[in-house]
Amino acid sequence: MDTMLMTEVESPARKRIALVAHDNMKDDLLQWVLDHRESLAAHDLVGTGTTGRLVAEHARLDVTRVKSGPLGGDQQIGAMIAEGRIHGLIFFVDPLSPHPHDVDVKALMRVALVYDLPMALNPAPATLMIEAM
Ligand code: PGA
Repeated sequence: MDTMLMTEVESPARKRIALVAHDNMKDDLLQWVLDHRESLAAHDLVGTGTTGRLVAEHARLDVTRVKSGPLGGDQQIGAMIAEGRIHGLIFFVDPLSPHPHDVDVKALMRVALVYDLPMALNPAPATLMIEAM
């Protein structure tokens, strides 16, 4: 891959982590957030609209919210990744339901791959990721 395309991502102790969960996965994400609340509190959190609101309400964590995923929030997170402003993506994807914004979902994953961003699509790797941050 052409490394000229890569954005330098600083690696501060306090990282910016993006949280996104599809509707059927929101309960799983909330449980995971509660299980790792202390670790997450050490970082800055960004979330798509509904995910971010639920995390803020249930876990009492500060979450910067972008738009809801289907309304462009996935793309906003993707843009932040391209700008080097995100250090990790936790994206609980529903593997069993179609989504009207599937192109946005794919685009978000693709940009995370392009920038070799730590990305977790389900709870087990999310735990490994947050423990390593
Ligand atoms: P939401 O978006 O957090 O606003 O529900 C998530 C998604 O991309 O479906």
